[in-house]
Amino acid sequence: MELNKSLPNQLKLFNFAKKEISLSGLYQICDFPKISEIASNKRDNIKVDLSFYLKNNKTPCVDGIIELDIVLECQKCLDDLSIALKVNFNLVFVKHDQQSEEPDSHYEIYVIEEDELATHDLISDEILLSIPMVPAHDYDCIKDINKQEIVEEKSENPFAILKKLK
Ligand SMILES: [Zn+2]
Repeated sequence: MELNKSLPNQLKLFNFAKKEISLSGLYQICDFPKISEIASNKRDNIKVDLSFYLKNNKTPCVDGIIELDIVLECQKCLDDLSIALKVNFNLVFVKHDQQSEEPDSHYEIYVIEEDELATHDLISDEILLSIPMVPAHDYDCIKDINKQEIVEEKSENPFAILKKLK
């Protein structure tokens, strides 16, 4: 078993799985155009660990962990929303023309065209799947904005106080 080699651009699925290879990689959010489009912290790191193995001696699988902090736009208040993502996944790779194996809830099926897969595509897909469809603060952020505005309006009126003093 080979450990902690760095991730190549292409994953040779069957080959890696047969060797039970484990690979790690460190990327930046800006390396992934689809993620970069929605994240404002484009220079922050993405840590990736992938471990390949064969299931039933023939089907390539991967256990993976992707870790990143991502800053999205809250869909309620449009302010920054920071989320710490830790994506754990277990994939079984199935060719599009292949009969899928017996259902196994432990795995997600990842349909592939070739025996090779672009590392960036896999990482990008898994991150996008784990991002909430409608990112939003888990508290009533709009209500807080309204409160703030009211407080500011009141304090921005020093002349009223001066008049009272006279
Ligand atoms: Zn918000």
